[in-house]
Amino acid sequence: MTTKIFLNSRCSLTSVAKPSFFNVIISGGGLIGQTMACALAKNPVFKNTNILLIESSSKKDYAQKDSYSNRVSSIAPTTIEFFEKLGIWKNIKRYQVMKDMKVWGYLSKDYINFEHDSNNPAYIVENDEIINAAVMENTKASNVKILYGSTIKDVTLNVGKRGRNHQIKLVDDSLYDTNLLIGADGANSFIRNVMGSDYINWNYKQFGIVATVLLSESNENNTAWQRFLPDGPIAILPLEKGISSLVWSLTESKAKQILKLPEEVFVDALNEALHSEPQKNEVAAIVNSCSKSLLGVFGPKSFSQPLIPPHIKSVVPKSIAAFPLSFGHCSQYYKDGVVLIGDSAHKVHPLAGQGVNIGFRDIQNLEAKLSQGVSDGRELGDAMDLKHYETEAQRHNIPLMAAIDALHWIYTSDNTILKAFGNVCFQFTESMRPLKTVMKQLAT
Ligand SMILES: Cc1cc2nc3c(=O)[nH]c(=O)nc-3n(C[C@H](O)[C@H](O)[C@H](O)COP(=O)(O)OP(=O)(O)OC[C@H]3O[C@@H](n4cnc5c(N)ncnc54)[C@H](O)[C@@H]3O)c2cc1C
Repeated sequence: MTTKIFLNSRCSLTSVAKPSFFNVIISGGGLIGQTMACALAKNPVFKNTNILLIESSSKKDYAQKDSYSNRVSSIAPTTIEFFEKLGIWKNIKRYQVMKDMKVWGYLSKDYINFEHDSNNPAYIVENDEIINAAVMENTKASNVKILYGSTIKDVTLNVGKRGRNHQIKLVDDSLYDTNLLIGADGANSFIRNVMGSDYINWNYKQFGIVATVLLSESNENNTAWQRFLPDGPIAILPLEKGISSLVWSLTESKAKQILKLPEEVFVDALNEALHSEPQKNEVAAIVNSCSKSLLGVFGPKSFSQPLIPPHIKSVVPKSIAAFPLSFGHCSQYYKDGVVLIGDSAHKVHPLAGQGVNIGFRDIQNLEAKLSQGVSDGRELGDAMDLKHYETEAQRHNIPLMAAIDALHWIYTSDNTILKAFGNVCFQFTESMRPLKTVMKQLAT
């Protein structure tokens, strides 16, 4: 049976007087919500589980455009394996292999080169390509319904006699009952508010400027570049020969100035950010030379290849956009049959390209715990299984989020010692293989 996609809930569902029941309701059909629905639909344990996905925006025409979307994500090798398992990867037609990523700062030309295993590379993929690929699978699944253009306006928890029976009211007043409500509704999650758990968050007072850029070089373009600058990092992510995607984090005031620039001047500013000579800093120079002597004792130094970032030729007209950047973490990922995944539970700075990868890991973890619970004879979404999900997710997410946040503070700090420390990190990480391996493992 094919999934029915209700483009307009009003015409299809408001006439239902009694609440419709779904075993699982997912709020939010972004990267994470659509993939979660797909993960449940593909697991044979849930073949009799009805899933309703509610997405507030209207259904997009995902047909591939000639030009690239300015919203792309670097997808870790572990996420690719997961996509392959779900049948999502075969639907993704446009992507670029990212063989390595070169990361450097503004006080020297020392850099870290994070190489990916050639059999297991990371990829740069447009967000819309991923959502479309998951929607294609969900549309084929007989137990998934997607409701577009609909938003949850009210949730009453535990209305049923047996508990854990939540009632959901949409903006058109239609009612749905469920035993498991999954919040995948992003950083401003309504479901998180319904749960009422503590949410720690702060604003980085930065914007992430994104754009599609054309390069002067016509090489294979399989390297990502990221430079840490005092106002925030700039990253150039490969899309295809001669085309890359920009993610440039800047203080709010600088971002506002940059966004007003004519496109040619914007391009000059980009090239300056990527190619400016290292700044002179006496403390950093001393720390630098001490650490180089130390590294000479410990092992080989490996900045043999010169660092040559790409030159930006032009920016694709109208591709420039900006997003406010913040940190957020919810202390509780579940409560009484309500559970959070993705940005609704945690939000990080894009400097490590990890935000959505953390969310994809949540999905794998939650699916595994729910599946184990049902196989062991517990009800879907039993508190014990949700607790296991939360414990495992937080054990992974909190150290990674703390490391990403620390990197942000180190590289944007005005403190000379911290700046010097940040600079030697590139040498140490590149030269000390175990440290580099730990950093890579954290991010995959
Ligand atoms: C500039 C920038 C660059 C980034 N680059 C990377 C990267 O390279 N790699 C990476 O891993 N991450 C990256 N991220 C982070 C990544 O984009 C997010 O982690 C990811 O989009 C989170 O997905 P999500 O589905 O949880 O939330 P969202 O993408 O916010 O999706 C939430 C969905 O829920 C819907 N919704 C909201 N409220 C409701 C409601 N009440 N009812 C129904 N639906 C609702 C929304 O319409 C939306 O479709 C980047 C972020 C930024 C800002």
